[in-house]
Amino acid sequence: MQILIAEDEPRIAAFIEKGLRANGFTTEIAVTASETLNLAVQGEFDLLILDLGLPEKDGLEVLEELRGQGSQIPIVILTARDDIQDKLAGLEGGADDYMTKPFRFEELLARVKLRLRGHSQTAALEETILSAGNVVLNLRTRKVQVGSKIIELPVREFTLAEMFFRHPGQVLSRQQLLDRVWGYDYDPGSNILDVYVGYLRKKLGSELFETVRGVGYRLRS
Ligand code: CA
Repeated sequence: MQILIAEDEPRIAAFIEKGLRANGFTTEIAVTASETLNLAVQGEFDLLILDLGLPEKDGLEVLEELRGQGSQIPIVILTARDDIQDKLAGLEGGADDYMTKPFRFEELLARVKLRLRGHSQTAALEETILSAGNVVLNLRTRKVQVGSKIIELPVREFTLAEMFFRHPGQVLSRQQLLDRVWGYDYDPGSNILDVYVGYLRKKLGSELFETVRGVGYRLRS
């Protein structure tokens, strides 16, 4: 497994590299935004650990460019910024996880392993087509067919849709959905899940997603 570490502080980069190598990973360090983009799009890395305060460009811009180019590389943001707006921007921009410095290496390692596992499970099911009502999800092309129309969903909306389509008719709790799609111990007061279900209702059909009051949501099968 190859990990790309985007980090401009040599001391931190070396600390992460040493720990990952001791755990059997191959690593490479990128110290600027352009270096990170160049290496990440080559597709040889299994995961990117992304600092937000990078020379040349903000890490959030790097994230946006990568996802904009269709890169599905799992991304764990690791930053000194603990501002909730940055956190939200990172997660909504398609990062898989977000950790703030100072951090314990064991926690970073656990999150890296978790993201790698989730990703390889998705990859193994690449050929799968999932459907409900007149909506078809193609997990390989990441395209969604609604009736006769083909649409594309942002990464996180697609992941949420996939979670529903994998469990048709089953009540999914708010916590399950937040854990699986946002992968983060989320602010329980946040309404982000409802906002995203709203997006899916609008794009895929409001009748598909049933609100189960006090629990979560269910995909009508
Ligand atoms: Ca930095």
